[in-house]
Amino acid sequence: MEITCDIAMDLVDVYTSRAASEDTETAVRDHLKSCKECRRFYDGYKKSLDEEKKKKQTCFKVETSPCAADELIADSMTKVSKRLRRRRIISIVCSCISIAIVLASAVIDLRSILSDSD
Ligand SMILES: [Zn+2]
Repeated sequence: MEITCDIAMDLVDVYTSRAASEDTETAVRDHLKSCKECRRFYDGYKKSLDEEKKKKQTCFKVETSPCAADELIADSMTKVSKRLRRRRIISIVCSCISIAIVLASAVIDLRSILSDSD
């Protein structure tokens, strides 16, 4: 089926996105083979699509890597803060125990002093 340049250019988008029916695809392909102007238009169109795709991919990469880094940082931060919290609890417990020991020894000393004076 022969199509005009206008029809071919109208269909270039459908053709490049491979959403065209077999008949449309064949008609556009045949037209592109025989028509230099439409071929040039098609090549430029495809190139711009590819560039757009590449841009999107690089943008995606740029966007995801800091996000992934943020996640890693957040993950390690929670790990670190958990560890710090655990350490803080341990140090509080340790200081409580040492205070209890000091108090107990003081009480024992007082008792021994009191019992000595008797
Ligand atoms: Zn043409």
